[in-house]
Amino acid sequence: MPSSLSSRRRFLGIAASVASSAVHIGNPSILPAADANVQQPRLLDCHLHINHFERTIEDTIRHMDATGTDKAFVLPLETGEGGVLLRTETVLHAYHQYRDRIIPFCQTDIRSDDVIARLRAYHLLGCRGIGEQKEHLPLNDPRVERVIAFCNDVHWPITIHFQDGPGGYNQGLADHLETYLKRYKNVRIIGHAQTWWANISAEVPPADKTLYPKGPVKPGGLLDRLLSDYPNLYADMSAGSGFGALSRDKDFTAGFIERHSKQMLFGSDCPCYDGHGAHFKNLCYSRQLQAFLEELVTDPDTLQDIFYNNAMRALEG
Ligand SMILES: [Zn+2]
Ligand SMILES: [Zn+2]
Repeated sequence: MPSSLSSRRRFLGIAASVASSAVHIGNPSILPAADANVQQPRLLDCHLHINHFERTIEDTIRHMDATGTDKAFVLPLETGEGGVLLRTETVLHAYHQYRDRIIPFCQTDIRSDDVIARLRAYHLLGCRGIGEQKEHLPLNDPRVERVIAFCNDVHWPITIHFQDGPGGYNQGLADHLETYLKRYKNVRIIGHAQTWWANISAEVPPADKTLYPKGPVKPGGLLDRLLSDYPNLYADMSAGSGFGALSRDKDFTAGFIERHSKQMLFGSDCPCYDGHGAHFKNLCYSRQLQAFLEELVTDPDTLQDIFYNNAMRALEG
């Protein structure tokens, strides 16, 4: 276990032992404070699925335990575009088993005529947002706008996979995202994936050249401007796309996080089974990003915002 990850858990372990010793020495005056420390949630993963490589609900909870993750937005992908098919019903089933760990999102085929009726049903059943929105439709398709407008009406967040190029999803971030941000002020849009993160730089290579640009970031990128202008826009740091963009130019990233510290969301999108990379190239996205942020972000309040508070704000509006 990397030392940076264990330090937070060690602190919580100490807090727990203080709380229990307080019981033994019969000093109730210090118990509430210590207890508050123990119960303080520390890490919310804003981007988790269940059944990567047939991972079960129990495996997914084990992954959360192993990575020190208290809660997660669990995101279905009902149409399976992109290779993972996870039904909203499965997420709701998991939520009913682990109510204090799972925050259920919903997703359904937005090309079907009954999409709004289905979303209303998921709303009644306890879902808290839409995502992961990942279907082969351009961003300015009216069917995409229809679900963003729905989120705006019910004050929900929506997590969108932005990937330009043929075979991509929600193509056209640079041309169309701001239109929605101007038009819909109640929805919280959570940006995710390759094209989202490529726009951390003012220099974005064509999608058919690369979706994972490397090297120094050119300041003045679209994300900097949109995140500054629209407080209802959030950045999902998960997956290889998030880590690649954040780690390509650490000096730039430190300033980027500082400028948008209330809009950065920790997330993993990790498919591994055990928090140590099992079934996934011996790599755990959650552990990797936690260690990176704990090294880069020196202000504990900012770290707690990124790890937990910002996601709750995105959830609750
Ligand atoms: Zn995902
Ligand atoms: Zn993992």
